[in-house]
Formats: sequence, structure tokens, C-alpha cells
Amino acid sequence: MESLITELRNALPAKAILTDAADKAPFETDWRKLYNNPAVCVVLPESAEQVAAVVRICATAGVKVVPQGGNTGLVAGGVPVAGRDQVVVSLNRMNKIRDIDTQGDTITVEAGVTLQEVQEAAARRERLFPVSLGAEGTARIGGVISTNAGGIQVLSYGSMRAQVLGLEVVLADGRIWDGMRRLRKDNTGIDLKQIFIGAEGTMGIITAAVLRLQPAVRARATALVGVASLESALAVFAALRAAAGSALTMCEFISRESMELGIAHIPGGRLPCEAAAYLLVEFSSHAGGEKIDEALLEALEGALADGTASDAVVAQSGRERADLLRIREAIPEGELAEGGAVKHDIAVPVEEIPETIRAIEAMVGEKYPEFRLNIFGHVGDGNLHVNVRPPAGLTLKDIAEEKTAITAAVEGIAVARGGSFSAEHGIGQMRIIGMAAHKSSVELDMMRAVKAALDPTGVFSPGKVLP
Ligand SMILES: Cc1cc2nc3c(=O)[nH]c(=O)nc-3n(C[C@H](O)[C@H](O)[C@H](O)COP(=O)(O)OP(=O)(O)OC[C@H]3O[C@@H](n4cnc5c(N)ncnc54)[C@H](O)[C@@H]3O)c2cc1C
Repeated sequence: MESLITELRNALPAKAILTDAADKAPFETDWRKLYNNPAVCVVLPESAEQVAAVVRICATAGVKVVPQGGNTGLVAGGVPVAGRDQVVVSLNRMNKIRDIDTQGDTITVEAGVTLQEVQEAAARRERLFPVSLGAEGTARIGGVISTNAGGIQVLSYGSMRAQVLGLEVVLADGRIWDGMRRLRKDNTGIDLKQIFIGAEGTMGIITAAVLRLQPAVRARATALVGVASLESALAVFAALRAAAGSALTMCEFISRESMELGIAHIPGGRLPCEAAAYLLVEFSSHAGGEKIDEALLEALEGALADGTASDAVVAQSGRERADLLRIREAIPEGELAEGGAVKHDIAVPVEEIPETIRAIEAMVGEKYPEFRLNIFGHVGDGNLHVNVRPPAGLTLKDIAEEKTAITAAVEGIAVARGGSFSAEHGIGQMRIIGMAAHKSSVELDMMRAVKAALDPTGVFSPGKVLP
């Protein structure tokens, strides 16, 4: 490995190569602290040409390359796997915003710009970048594209795939593909960028992107709605959607247990209202004005009158809105602080949600009565995060045996109802068993064929996505 590091040092500035154990450590462990495997070194290139040089040097040496952004991924896709020589390529120093085009409503950024920086740059020019998720201050655009991240506004704006117009990618042979188009329409053969979106770094390294912007949101109305059950939650969702259409930009389900976890993690946190479960909802308007508040109040009054909603707290200021959103964001942090959870990211057709969750509750109650369920997520997308926490006092390490069986059962219940076992977090190294269990051989063969065509020697991210 010494000659590899020498070659990397010849190609990149000295400060771009980390070999010291303490320097490498943060790049070797995933966000949930479940995976920790050594990297030969970590490199932090500052240009696509430097990324290309790293890929060429590693490919020649037979060493694998793992691209990494903010390392907030929840399936350990951006950290090394066990037993292989791997170099982590962190895109964090490629962090320039190259251009904002307010005529065509696009933003052109390098892969290491954080999601929040993109949102803020758009806001400064009175535009909206709509993808929003709890880790947005740390997650980087290359990672967000590579996971096709969803978040809390998919309902109205779609997931990351819907925002990407163009990409620049370093390929397995070290060539740089310039696909940085700003076009809304381009039917000239296969849409190659789609291969890299959601590929979790297995097809190439994204070094820059052109993203679509939306008009700025000029008025928002946000509320926390108490509901008695998932059925009621879906009825409220349907009523709000009927009232607002695509102006319903957020509809997040929070079970009572999840609410309590989130609140416990916020200093001074308290329940905004008593309920069996909650919906965090938001109407947004690009036109502004007070009509949006009236529309939300009217829809909520209807839901309270017909009994589908049991209570509602409407945010009266930006501060109160931030407080409500903070509770939702604090749930994963609360879980982690309290020993972690066996996490699942399932999607089912929306009407299947109550049955699916009942089947999961019955399975956990019967086989793992001491375990604690907390469920939250993007109910309007049919996507719920089903988290099974170990019995009080135990951690994930103590339940290693049960963990695999619980995941197989939860994923199986979702897939049997026409669902997905990974709606927005991807596969990484954590969900590979699910790929083998739930994907047909035809699907796996097609994916392997694309991988073999673009990365014939398997230089990118071994042990990820494909079993
Ligand atoms: C608190 C919290 C809340 C979250 N909420 C959501 C949510 O609501 N919705 C959601 O979808 N996700 C969510 N996530 C998951 C995570 O934030 C997203 O998956 C995010 O998109 C990952 O971005 P990252 O830069 O951290 O990527 P990383 O974790 O660094 O990498 C993720 C994957 O992308 C690959 N990759 C990274 N950069 C590149 C690149 N430049 N080129 C090619 N491949 C690359 C990596 O190899 C890896 O496979 C959440 C995570 C946390 C911690």
C-alpha cells in the first residue's frame, strides 16, 4: 500500500491524503456507529481531475474506491466494507456553488456542497430548493443524489431524482463524463444521469450537478394534528390533499412513542398536545398572502368536526414552526441516544398502511413482546420508518440475533403487500440481504449487467447494493 500512497501523494496535494488513524476514523464509521472498517487512506480531492487521478491510480493498484459525502447515510453505503483494500474518496472539499440561473431556475454546484448550503443559496435569490431532511446541514449534494434522498417534501416536489438536470461523473476508467446540462427536455437517447442517481456510488463518482429550483415559498401554514389511529391519519391526509392539492407540501406521521422520543431529546421539550398519534402538516404558497392560513384552518376545522382529528396546534410564528419541525428531526437522534433501534424504511401503497402496520405490531407483540415499536415518516408517500427498539436497558449489540429476524419479518410484511423494503435510504451494505431476498433474478441480472458495463473491474464500492 505504500507505493499506492506515494502515487496518490504525487498526484494530489499532501494535505489531501489522510493516513493517520485518528484523521481517518470519522470517515471509517457510519452515522449510526454500526459499521467500522479500515480504509487504506482517505483522500479529499479538490477537482474532478483529482478524483479521476485517484480512481485511475486505485484501479491500477487493484484497490477499491468508496465515495463519501457527509456520511449521514443510514445504510452504511459510504464507509468501507470488511476485508477489502479500500480508499475513501471524500468530496467534502469540492464545495463551490458555481452558478445560479434565475432565468432558467437552476443551480450548479460541486458535489461537496451541503444540502443546506444549496437551500440557502437558492433562498438568497428568492428561489426554493425543495429537498429537505433532518441531516441537511451535513449531507452533501453528491450523497443526496447518490441515495436519491426523499425527505419531508416529496409529496409536492418529488425526491432528489426529480431535481437533477445534469451531472458530472468520474467513471471507473478515470474518464470524466460531462453531462452538466441545464435542460428541462432532452430526449437524445438513454438518459445516462439516471444510472448514477440512487446508485450509492457503485457506478461512478458524482463531482458536480445542475439542480432544478422552484419559486420561493412566500407563505406557510404549519400544524401538528392529533389523531386516534393510522386510519384517522390517512383520512386527515386525504382531506388536506383534497383541500390544497400540491400546496400540501408536508404530511409526516409521528406515533406517540416517536413523539416522546423526540421530545425527550430536546432540552425543555414538551408534548404540544395529547393524542394517540400525530400528523405534522404544512401548506405552502408561492403567491403569499393569508389565504394559506385560512385554507389550513378550514381543512382542520372540518377534520375536527368529523372526528378524524382529535386536536390541532397551529404554528403562530416562524419560531413555533421551527419548534414543531425540530421534534420531528429529533426522533432519530433520540433513538440513537437511547441505545438505537432496528430501523426499517418501508413503503407500501398508501391504502395498505394500516394493515401493514397492524401486521408488524402483531408480529413484534407475539415474538418480541419486550421490544418497543416507534413509527414515524412520510405517510403521504406511503413511506414509514418502522423502528424496533431493544428492551429497556439493552442496546443493539445485545440483540444481534433477534435483529436479523426482525428485519426479515418487517421487510417481508411490506413486500408481501406490494411494498418496498427500502423506500428512501437505499441499500448500502446494511440492506443487501433484502436485495437477495426480495428482488427477482431478472431485476438483479439487469442491475448486474449495468454495473458490469460501467465498472467492469468493480473498482467502486464493493459489497454495496448488489448481492
Ligand atoms: C438525522 C437524519 C435524518 C435523515 N433523514 C432522511 C430523510 O428524511 N430522507 C432520506 O432520504 N434520507 C434521510 N437521511 C439519510 C441521509 O441523510 C441521506 O441518505 C443523505 O442523502 C446522505 O447524504 P451524505 O452526503 O451524507 O451521503 P453519504 O452518507 O456520505 O453517502 C451515501 C451514499 O452515497 C454515496 N456517495 C456519496 N457521495 C457520492 C458522490 N459524490 N458520488 C457517488 N456516490 C456518492 C456513498 O458511497 C454512499 O453509498 C437522514 C439521515 C440522518 C442522519
